[in-house]
Amino acid sequence: MRRKITVVGAGNVGAATAQRLAERDYADVCLVDVAPGKARGRALDLDHAAPVVGYEPRVTGVESYAEIAGSDLVVVTAGSAQEPGMSGDDRLAVNADVVRQVSREVSERCPDAIVVVVTNPLPVMCHVALEATGFPRQRVIGMAGILDSARLRTLLAWELGVSAADVTGLVVGGHGEAMVAVLSSATVAGAPVRERIGAQRLDEIVARARDAGAEVLDLLEAGSASYAPSAAVAEMVDAIVLDRRRVLPCAVLCQGEYGFDNLYIGAPAKLGRNGVEEIVEVALDESEREELRRSAEAVKVQVAALDSP
Ligand code: NAD
Repeated sequence: MRRKITVVGAGNVGAATAQRLAERDYADVCLVDVAPGKARGRALDLDHAAPVVGYEPRVTGVESYAEIAGSDLVVVTAGSAQEPGMSGDDRLAVNADVVRQVSREVSERCPDAIVVVVTNPLPVMCHVALEATGFPRQRVIGMAGILDSARLRTLLAWELGVSAADVTGLVVGGHGEAMVAVLSSATVAGAPVRERIGAQRLDEIVARARDAGAEVLDLLEAGSASYAPSAAVAEMVDAIVLDRRRVLPCAVLCQGEYGFDNLYIGAPAKLGRNGVEEIVEVALDESEREELRRSAEAVKVQVAALDSP
């Protein structure tokens, strides 16, 4: 029997994710959205492309959660993107309600699924999903680090005039403005980038990576980034579905790792068929450790805001 992957939210990120997963052809894809017709329209469009691209036309679009039963993996993109003029707190409350509702449906209808949370603000939404599903930490994972790291690597590659494939650059901590670029271990073909790019220019590059989501949003005026986020989700799903044991930066619940207790934070994690199989602790220099501590404080404040009535 084919695997089943559900993508909740058929907006920019959800639709792009469904496309990437359908094209991999290793699972049936179920797309869910509360907006009438939206998921069905996207799914129909994706099925029509199947004979041309070369995958099975087995994408379904639904408005009802009954259809997600039996999913092996659920990607949660439902919620609102940051609209111009919307405060962070407003978005936090709106998206927490959505993720809570989705998570309850997931825990009832596919109690063995692995959940990949995409809805912002990450990693706070991971806390919501963990609590509302009641799943173990191995099965509730957030996507942000691969995306932030890819943005950093792209900018470093442009600066150095080399292929992005030859640039490494890990990002830990929070997402976007709260991300921590681990420049102490960033390399180009094995050589430290700090030996090739001056400190001031590196600061500018990290700042641009940090603001990359807003830069895209400003250019588009409506909508938000979707190609890079969906590519990052697909890399996580590949690692889980194909049991690849990739070590990828994800939002994971630390229970002692990096000195944090019961806190979701971005860190490299080994992903395989069981979800998070290990949280890998990498060496950080003193300023990176301090940045990570500050990033974790910001997550704690948001989690506390969520818990207060
Ligand atoms: P979007 O507005 O295009 O799509 C969101 C969709 O969710 C809409 O179609 C809406 O109808 C649907 N929805 C709302 N409530 C729902 C519910 N209860 N059940 C099912 N569907 C529901 O937004 P987008 O650009 O696709 O972004 C989605 C989320 O992903 C946002 O929170 C955004 O900030 C976040 N995001 C995260 C990252 C990351 O790195 N983690 C990257 C990009 C976007």
